[in-house]
Amino acid sequence: MWTNWSGGLECRPRATDRPLDEAGVVAAIARAADRGLRIRPVGAGRSWSPLSVTGDVQLDCSALTGVVAIGTDRVRVRAGATLAGLYAALAEHGRTLEVVPDTDAITVAGAIGTGTHGGGAAVGSLSALVTGARLIDGVGAVRRIEGPELDAVRVGLGALGVLTEVELRTVPAFLLHVHEEPGEAAELLGGGGVLDTHRWAEVELHVPSGEALARWGDPVDPDDAGGRAEPAHRDPVRAAATGSAEALGRMVSRLAPTLRRSARWGGAVTGPAYRLLPDSRPQRHELTEWAVPREALGPVLRELSAATTARGLELRAPIGIRVGAAETGWLHPASGRATAWIAVRSPRGVDPGPLFGLVGSVLGAADGRPHWAGRHDWTADEVELAYPRLGDFRAARDRLDPERRFANEHLTTLLGP
Ligand SMILES: Cc1cc2nc3c(=O)[nH]c(=O)nc-3n(C[C@H](O)[C@H](O)[C@H](O)COP(=O)(O)OP(=O)(O)OC[C@H]3O[C@@H](n4cnc5c(N)ncnc54)[C@H](O)[C@@H]3O)c2cc1C
Repeated sequence: MWTNWSGGLECRPRATDRPLDEAGVVAAIARAADRGLRIRPVGAGRSWSPLSVTGDVQLDCSALTGVVAIGTDRVRVRAGATLAGLYAALAEHGRTLEVVPDTDAITVAGAIGTGTHGGGAAVGSLSALVTGARLIDGVGAVRRIEGPELDAVRVGLGALGVLTEVELRTVPAFLLHVHEEPGEAAELLGGGGVLDTHRWAEVELHVPSGEALARWGDPVDPDDAGGRAEPAHRDPVRAAATGSAEALGRMVSRLAPTLRRSARWGGAVTGPAYRLLPDSRPQRHELTEWAVPREALGPVLRELSAATTARGLELRAPIGIRVGAAETGWLHPASGRATAWIAVRSPRGVDPGPLFGLVGSVLGAADGRPHWAGRHDWTADEVELAYPRLGDFRAARDRLDPERRFANEHLTTLLGP
């Protein structure tokens, strides 16, 4: 029995393959084809949507690990490597990735598969860093993906083939000086506010009260950071231990309880972004996240707040808000437009259906597109309207997986047969 990270999805595949190398992937695809079975790649199983759910063969790609080569401004890495391992390997060479999401426990291919993003108006997602890839297609052939076809693979949903190796753009390692402070939602979320003016930023919004907690960070020169530079982690206890205990106490006492629980640093800390930003001990939860046009953020949040209040639905966790640059990936939710990301979480054990349904209808009506890894109820009808390059993606799917070896029910619902 396979279950995803949140525990909200499960399936019983007929077989599970865990190849150790590219030849193993080719062999697994051939075995599935011989038995007339479909095959679904899975990375770290961190997605909330049933992208990897199958009753046929599940292809666990988590053993395809290791860095192949670190060049001056690129890295070639095996697709099942975790982000944590990749950041650590790059750090040894004075390099890093510009994008750091909330988790580093995911695989490179899984992150790219769903367009995993961080938070920063000028920064794209991990998918935007891809400069090349190796992929095993639906008939078991090894393909080098480059040029325009990369925009299909940037967010491939595991529908085009099995990624075995990915080349990503790197930047020189940097220290991020981050702050965490409460503030007024209207001030924080407006254009030119904290979300737009820093290398990295996020706002957590407590909807009923309108209270907000902002976090933002900018690179600092290691010499300027001096004694403040700490390999701190996103954890209030560790942040307190590194000298912000007083600030944390003052700040926390002023916050609504749900925001108080999500406070992380309670002041300012400095460290490598890849060590500061990922949450090392996330509480298991369900999530729906939507990409809306950046300029729609304020009105959409007001509408969402009014709709949840009118329906008497309780938001038990703060809404997470980040922004991101326009993407070129044909199926990236931020494709073609500067984007604001709105994440709504629901704790384990609570049925998220009514809340997530309402969030989807409000944000979908505001030209929002769901994060593919989150929970949503979109079908091919909505995908067709929202993605002008869907035709190109479908053509790439026809070329790379003509027999739909990589299909499952969820992908058929989203992309058609
Ligand atoms: C605690 C937590 C924090 C998160 N934070 C963020 C965040 O900050 N920003 C954000 O955007 N998302 C975030 N996510 C979502 C996460 O980034 C995505 O769910 C991501 O896809 C998970 O990667 P994975 O390795 O678990 O892939 P999986 O969930 O296992 O798979 C995801 C997709 O990739 C495909 N896939 C996996 N391996 C391969 C392969 N080798 N070849 C081809 N396709 C493959 C699968 O078929 C599937 O379609 C978070 C999730 C969690 C649980």
